Amino acid sequence: MKSAQAKVYDALVVGSGASGGWIAKELTEKGMEVLMLEAGPPRVPARDFTEHIWPYQLRYRGFGNQKKLLQDQPLQRLCYACDDYSRQFFVNDAEHPYTFPADKPFMWIRGRQIGGKTFCWARVSYRYSDFEFKAASHDGYGQDWPFSYEDLEPYYDKVESYIGVSGSYEGLPQLPDSKFLPPMRLSCGELVAKEIVEKKFGW
Ligand SMILES: Cc1cc2nc3c(=O)[nH]c(=O)nc-3n(C[C@H](O)[C@H](O)[C@H](O)COP(=O)(O)OP(=O)(O)OC[C@H]3O[C@@H](n4cnc5c(N)ncnc54)[C@H](O)[C@@H]3O)c2cc1C
Repeated sequence: MKSAQAKVYDALVVGSGASGGWIAKELTEKGMEVLMLEAGPPRVPARDFTEHIWPYQLRYRGFGNQKKLLQDQPLQRLCYACDDYSRQFFVNDAEHPYTFPADKPFMWIRGRQIGGKTFCWARVSYRYSDFEFKAASHDGYGQDWPFSYEDLEPYYDKVESYIGVSGSYEGLPQLPDSKFLPPMRLSCGELVAKEIVEKKFGW
């Protein structure tokens, strides 16, 4: 495109996962024109969503073609969710090589599609606490994050109020309470387990 015709955007967002998606939402709501670049294709529910297929409908009965997994996704397959039902949401390792020091192996789990790893996300929406952000001060390993839970708290509030997170207020320092929708009810088995844990351990 000639430069005279080129459209100028206010912001460029690279990647359409949860992070890029949220940033694009915030910027466009403020009136900015945003260009989003995404390296992967869109996913088509009728074709790509195969989590609910019965094992007997799959050639390897849900265990997957292990030879092909080892060949194409030797690293991704180490993630529990990269299986016969969901491997399409993970990259082909041969096509996305990376390196790491031999003594510091790093398992880089990646998705390449519009929506990124929201396709793998298991729907647990916990908050981190200063046990994570200030972990180095607790155990001496690595570095503290440059912000604290208190700094992040209003942003947690904002995102949770938008997406809707169900849960119960427990007041635990290691797992700060979210802005909750009403909690889902416990199953009979969970209720029994809760009673026993409360009685035996006082938790
Ligand atoms: C199996 C599994 C279960 C999980 N369950 C949970 C859970 O229950 N709770 C929780 O909080 N978290 C969970 N997570 C983690 C969570 O899903 C991720 O942290 C989150 O989705 C990451 O979002 P992101 O936008 O930062 O990155 P991604 O979702 O990885 O998005 C990055 C995007 O950028 C694109 N991209 C990369 N490079 C380029 C480029 N050069 N140009 C253009 N586009 C590019 C990619 O294609 C991708 O779409 C889970 C992760 C996995 C794998």
